[in-house]
Amino acid sequence: MIDSILVLNAGSSSIKFSVEAPAGAAAVRMLAVGQIEGIGNHVHFIAKDADGAVLAETRWADGDGPMDHDSALRVISEWLDGFLGDARVLAVGHRVVHGGLDFSGPVRIDAAVRAKLQELVPLAPLHQPHNLAPIDAVEARYPGVLQVACFDTSFHRGHAFAAEAFAIPLKYYEQGIRRYGFHGLSYEYVARRLREVAPDVALGRVVVAHLGNGASMCGLREGKSVESSMGFTALDGLAMGTRSGQIDPGVLLHLIGAAGMTVPEVTRMLYHDSGLKGLSGISSDMRDLERSDDPRAVRAIDYFIHAIQRQLGSLVASVGGLDALVFTAGIGENSAMVRRRVCEKMGWLGIVLDPAANEANAGVISAPGSPVKVLVVRTSEETMIGLHVLEALAEQAVA
Ligand code: AMP
Repeated sequence: MIDSILVLNAGSSSIKFSVEAPAGAAAVRMLAVGQIEGIGNHVHFIAKDADGAVLAETRWADGDGPMDHDSALRVISEWLDGFLGDARVLAVGHRVVHGGLDFSGPVRIDAAVRAKLQELVPLAPLHQPHNLAPIDAVEARYPGVLQVACFDTSFHRGHAFAAEAFAIPLKYYEQGIRRYGFHGLSYEYVARRLREVAPDVALGRVVVAHLGNGASMCGLREGKSVESSMGFTALDGLAMGTRSGQIDPGVLLHLIGAAGMTVPEVTRMLYHDSGLKGLSGISSDMRDLERSDDPRAVRAIDYFIHAIQRQLGSLVASVGGLDALVFTAGIGENSAMVRRRVCEKMGWLGIVLDPAANEANAGVISAPGSPVKVLVVRTSEETMIGLHVLEALAEQAVA
C-alpha cells in the first residue's frame, strides 16, 4: 500500500471513514471506505475497497463492542494498520459541521484551533461534539500527525448580508445568529467537478440540489455560493428524511407554549420524526416511498418535490437566472422520478429534460439545445476533504 490520508466523519453513534491516496498534486484516489456504526450498542464495523468488495467486517453482540468514539477509532486504526502494511497515515481530515464566523476554509488543528472548535459547540450541539470527539483519539494513536478540520459551513462564508441575516434585532446577527448554510463540502466538490464536466456553465448561474437523507439547495455564481436553503442549523429549507425543513417559527412557539411540549421534545420531533418520515408515517427512505402506493407516501413525495420547486424558484431569483441545474446525493443521483417531476413543473425556466438520459441517470439529462443544462453529478465529501488535506500537506512541506 501507499502512504495515505485518513478521512473521518464522526456522528453521534457512528464514524464513517475513507482512505485516500494522493494521486498527483491535486487529486486523490479512494482506496477504501467504511464505517463503524451503533457505537455503544449493536456495533458493526465494515470496510470496503473502491469497487465495493468487503475487506473486513465485524459485528459485536449487544454491549460487547466499542462503547465510545475512542475505542471505535481504535478498531478503525487497527484495521488500517493491517490494510496499509508498511505505508503510513500521512494526515487525517475531519468533517466538522460548524466553522462559525472565523473559519472560511479548512484549518490545520493545533491546540488553539481545537479550543476554538470547542467554543462552536453551542452553534451545533447535536453534531459538533461528535465531530470533534476523534481528534484527541487520533493524536493519541498517531502522535504529531497533521490533522485538518473541514467545515460544512465554510463554502458559504461571504454571503451578502441580506442572504445571511434574520430580520430580528441586529445584535443577534452580531452574536453569530445567522444563516450559515451547510453541505458546503458537497457543494464545493460539485462546483469543482462542474469545471471539468461542464465548463460552459460552471461559472454561470447554477443551482445545486443536494437531495440525500439530509437535503438542501445552493445557488452558485462564478462557482461561489451565493445563498443556501439551510440556515442557522441544518433544519431549514427542504423537507428531509426525518427533518422538517422550513417551518413557521410561530408553530414552535405554539407547541412550546400552549401545547406544553418541552424543548427536547420539539427538538426530537423536528430532527428525527418529521420530513418524509413524519408526513408518510412509513419511512424516511425515498426508495420505500417510491415503492409504496399508500396515499400518505404519495403526499410525502408531493411535498418533497413542491419544496424543491419553491426553493429552486427562490434561488434562481438569488443568482439572477439559471444556466444549469445540478442534482446530487442519494436521491438526486438515483431517483429519475424526483428529477423528472422537479424539471417538468419548472419547464418555464427553460428546462427541457431528455427522458431517456434521465432514466439512465446520465451525467447530462437535459435535451440538446435546452436553454438550461441539467446535470447529475456524484458528490464526494470524502474526496473534497482528501483534497483539502493534500493542500495542507503541501503547505506543511513548504513551511
Ligand atoms: P444519502 O444521504 O445521500 O446517502 O441519500 C439517502 C437517500 O437516497 C435515501 O432517501 C435513499 O432512499 C435515497 N436513494 C438512494 N438510492 C435511491 C434510488 N435508487 N432511488 C430513489 N432514492 C434513492
